[in-house]
Amino acid sequence: MKSCKEVHKLLHSEEDLGLMEKIKLRIHTIMCKHCNAYRRHLQLVRQGVAKWVEKASDVDPERVKDLEKKFLRKTKRRNNSD
Ligand SMILES: [Zn+2]
Repeated sequence: MKSCKEVHKLLHSEEDLGLMEKIKLRIHTIMCKHCNAYRRHLQLVRQGVAKWVEKASDVDPERVKDLEKKFLRKTKRRNNSD
């Protein structure tokens, strides 16, 4: 089974994961309540950003992506220091 650190890296990854990676990731998040909560948190952040971008038509999409990355990096850093 993957470690929580490996799972967090994969959750932050923007690459398209292969089927086996997705299955391993899903198994881990089903069995680990911390990673499952973390996955849901990231999902909420991404959905929130997407909704915000939808409403704000004059926002530069590259700037939004930058802000999302910075936010996720800070969240990841805070999470790793626990
Ligand atoms: Zn975990």
